[in-house]
Amino acid sequence: MNVNDMEIVLSIMKKDGYTEIVEAPENAEVIFINTCAIRDNAEQKVWQRLNYFWFLKREWKTNVANGRCTSLHPPKVVVLGCMAERLKEKILDAEKMVDVVCGPDAYRDLPRLLEEIEYGHKGINTLLSLEETYADISPVRISSNSISAFVSIMRGCNNMCSFCIVPFTRGRERSRPVESIVREVGELHEQGVKEVMLLGQNVNSYNDLSGVKDVEPGSSWELSEGFSNNCKVRNKGLRFSDLLDQLSMKFPEMRFRYTSPHPKDFPDELLYIMRDRYNICKNIHLPAQTGSTTVLQRMRRGYTREAYLDLVKKIRSIIPDVGISSDFICGFCGETEDEHADTLSLMKAVGYDNAYMFAYSLREKTHAHRNYVDDVPENVKQRRLTEIIDTFRECKGQCFDSQIGTIQLILVEGPNKRCPETELTGKSDRGHRVSFPCVPLPHSSAADVELRKPVAGDFVEVRILKSTQASLSGKALARTSLSGFYRAGSSSSSDNALEVGAAGNL
Ligand code: SF4
Repeated sequence: MNVNDMEIVLSIMKKDGYTEIVEAPENAEVIFINTCAIRDNAEQKVWQRLNYFWFLKREWKTNVANGRCTSLHPPKVVVLGCMAERLKEKILDAEKMVDVVCGPDAYRDLPRLLEEIEYGHKGINTLLSLEETYADISPVRISSNSISAFVSIMRGCNNMCSFCIVPFTRGRERSRPVESIVREVGELHEQGVKEVMLLGQNVNSYNDLSGVKDVEPGSSWELSEGFSNNCKVRNKGLRFSDLLDQLSMKFPEMRFRYTSPHPKDFPDELLYIMRDRYNICKNIHLPAQTGSTTVLQRMRRGYTREAYLDLVKKIRSIIPDVGISSDFICGFCGETEDEHADTLSLMKAVGYDNAYMFAYSLREKTHAHRNYVDDVPENVKQRRLTEIIDTFRECKGQCFDSQIGTIQLILVEGPNKRCPETELTGKSDRGHRVSFPCVPLPHSSAADVELRKPVAGDFVEVRILKSTQASLSGKALARTSLSGFYRAGSSSSSDNALEVGAAGNL
């Protein structure tokens, strides 16, 4: 999300006459630092960077004299994002390290804020908005020759999980109109992008209200079975499955992924559309946070362990070859050894392809900060974190091993860094990294008789031969197209259907 936000900032600044991105901060006239406030660790890293930028400001004259800097002025330092919103004036006052503080909904105001400081005023805008989605801004892509891109479709969060600061730093949920997303994806398609990651704090709570008067709103507004919503949806527009429906139909040669969803918003329509459209990747991030129902209640997540496991079962029965990933927090307020054991058993029961795991870090303003005690000692949190990481690794290995023998469609990203001369690497539909020898290949279509080595952006059929339990490698069979691979009824889908599920007990 922050990468995509920087692309929006870049677009705004380019329009205001800032034309060049410099490689080194030493040569910059303006330095932007986009921040995350989700954990204390992330904030500490930002302070370290700010210290270095402060040094650049103070030493600018000496650096110019020594030829270590080409900037005509001392750099202005701009703090963007969640930490800007959380700390506001505190950052500005920190010994004048920072010139401008701009929250995630105020990026359009950046040119004015930079001007304000020329007149000795404070450059600060951390107002949160109920409407801002930057829908009309075409982000300037930071990596312009990449074959994948991010597209932000909604912002904010209404859920108020008790541990989380996001609703306070990113504000309420709001969604971009479908047509503005389709327009942006169309531009990316023209530029040769092959894979789009749809982004949002709760991406599948997408709710496009812009056309509710003219179009039939989403057919149903069911939640996942057994899940509840902390915040009632009053106005109901087009849902996430409607957006996926349009994108997958309009761009048959583009792959679509999305992150980060909330498990409560997986109605059956969404699962069926994922099953039925070959260009929606079979990969679901399903943040559990913990495997204990009592901890889930304290976290105010709106579901039980049983409801979560039932959802996993349903997802796998509808989309048999799906990969599932998750987020876990250990050592949340009051977490007992039994509750921690529930998390380990949930991980084993599901068998995740990937997981993001953290020790709990108390954040100010949250429900937990006001109402609970952060009482799990740090050494216990760290021991539990090691246990969940070890448990995850066991399951992950099985997920990867289960792919051996299947044929996967790989979108080539470029040379494999370990053997750049001889191997290529890319991702499978399920999101696994796969490498394979770079040799001339025929195209699977009879109309294309060229024999050539694949390049970034090509789709290649690869038979998986080996798993390191963290990545896969195999033999490339042919170049192909996204639609061609599935139209041909590739053996991979049937192979996968038989083999998926080996990793978990569900
Ligand atoms: S759903 Fe919960 S964890 Fe996710 S951003 Fe919202 S409050 Fe935070």
